[in-house]
Amino acid sequence: MFPDYRLRQREYLLQISRAMTARLDLPSLLKLILENAVEILSGQAGLIVLRRDDSTFYPRASFGLPAGAIHLVDALWRDLPTTTDQPGWQVPELRMRLSLASAAAGVALRQVVALPMVIEDEIIGLIYIFRSRGAEFTTNDRQVLGDFADQAAIAVQNARLYQQVNDERTRLDAIIQNSGDGVMILDPDRTIRTWNRALVGMTGKPAEEAIGRHCYEVLDLHNRQGVSVCQTACPLVKPPDDGRLYAEGDTQRADGISVNVADNYSPQYDEDGRLLSVIASVRDMSRLREAEELKNTLLSVISHELKTPVSIIKGYAGTLVRQDAHWDQETVREGLSIIEEEADKLNELINNLLDASRLQAGGLQLQFAYLDLPSMAEKSVEKFRTQTDKHTFSVDFAANFPPVRGDYERIREVLSNLIGNALKYSPKGGLIRVGGVAKEEEVHIFVSDEGIGIPATEQERIFDRFARVDSSLTRQTPGAGLGLFLVKAVIEGHGGRVWVESRPGQGSTFNFTLPIGT
Ligand code: ADP
Repeated sequence: MFPDYRLRQREYLLQISRAMTARLDLPSLLKLILENAVEILSGQAGLIVLRRDDSTFYPRASFGLPAGAIHLVDALWRDLPTTTDQPGWQVPELRMRLSLASAAAGVALRQVVALPMVIEDEIIGLIYIFRSRGAEFTTNDRQVLGDFADQAAIAVQNARLYQQVNDERTRLDAIIQNSGDGVMILDPDRTIRTWNRALVGMTGKPAEEAIGRHCYEVLDLHNRQGVSVCQTACPLVKPPDDGRLYAEGDTQRADGISVNVADNYSPQYDEDGRLLSVIASVRDMSRLREAEELKNTLLSVISHELKTPVSIIKGYAGTLVRQDAHWDQETVREGLSIIEEEADKLNELINNLLDASRLQAGGLQLQFAYLDLPSMAEKSVEKFRTQTDKHTFSVDFAANFPPVRGDYERIREVLSNLIGNALKYSPKGGLIRVGGVAKEEEVHIFVSDEGIGIPATEQERIFDRFARVDSSLTRQTPGAGLGLFLVKAVIEGHGGRVWVESRPGQGSTFNFTLPIGT
């Protein structure tokens, strides 16, 4: 071998080494190593095997060998040790391994040189270069390949670490993206870098819109008094004394609805204590707040609304039962009918409360049958007729009104709630009309009164749970604000719609539809 040839070989090796260290994608790195190793050593074929976690080796890249032959030449790497016990370690019985391999694969491989890729005495893989013709491999060839293998070992290790970090990052990304809680990652200057799916759902703002902007612009938290939490109390700007990085406030969703969120921040620092990023977990507290408010309302409604009829009942029953008084027939009957009326009200209220809680638990079941709505309306009106002398009633259904599929008990409650309201909210009396017509695929029912009416701004809200229009009459009138909530749920559960038309001071008409069904 001429010295200048060796020199060229070394120079080439140096160039390849540089190219290798710049490459982090393992398959393309192995291809580069192999092709160049074959070329430097004027071989015809080559193979790289890498070590698995279980300490066995497997072929990872090949050059110049028929694809089908690769797994047949496993004699080359079978039962190899995983550490090199001395410098200059060589694959034991390489000659015999080669003849076994070439016989098994049916390929003429005459010469082989094999060198381990070693990191801290650990063999992470081996490079094999084959010659099918020409001279034997020399000591110089072995040395060249040895140097090459040392460089390759570092490059392979780097590529594997890079791959591991990448895998780790992909896994972390998947965890963040699929987390049920909102997660955002911020730069030190509070620019959003990551915005997960839960946050998209919570805020209605897509990741493209949030990433790259400041969190105080995108979330823009405000407290109940309308003061900006982000500007006055951001824990990242002014960390509190207790060190708890927490902020809570309302943020406006893309659709304009306000959601109450709670953010917990955990800052990440580098070795020198410099802030690298902040991971914020964002929770939607609206449901919790709603549930709390609901509980409070429920308690106050129960205590207030149940108390009145109970004290009336108790008052009348106590009076009637007195030993020392002799009541005439008329007084006793009057007292008992008031007790009955109040007990009915109690019953209705309890039913409404129960249904509301069933609804919330998603358990309101409907039992369908064919309903004769005109006769149900008639019955309902009869019940209320006895309770008033200021109102007149009319029941007015089209002659061809068809039977409609529905849940008898629930629709009876709907009618009872609507007619009861018509009565309650027209204290001066007037005409209450109940009627209906059939239209193509649905029936259309209305209950109208000539009472106090409902301001336009309240007409949607009154169907919400516990919603009541704030007026002196409402305050004096018993009610839990549940009737219309249930009416809406029942009607929508039947596939119908409900709405109100009303003018304050002139009266209201509640309308609902039900599909006729088959
Ligand atoms: P409640 O009658 O127990 O308060 P509802 O859910 O039945 O609860 O009704 C909610 C609110 O809607 C009532 O408090 C009242 O302010 C208003 N409302 C309902 N029906 C009528 C009506 N026919 N006329 C005027 N206001 C009504």
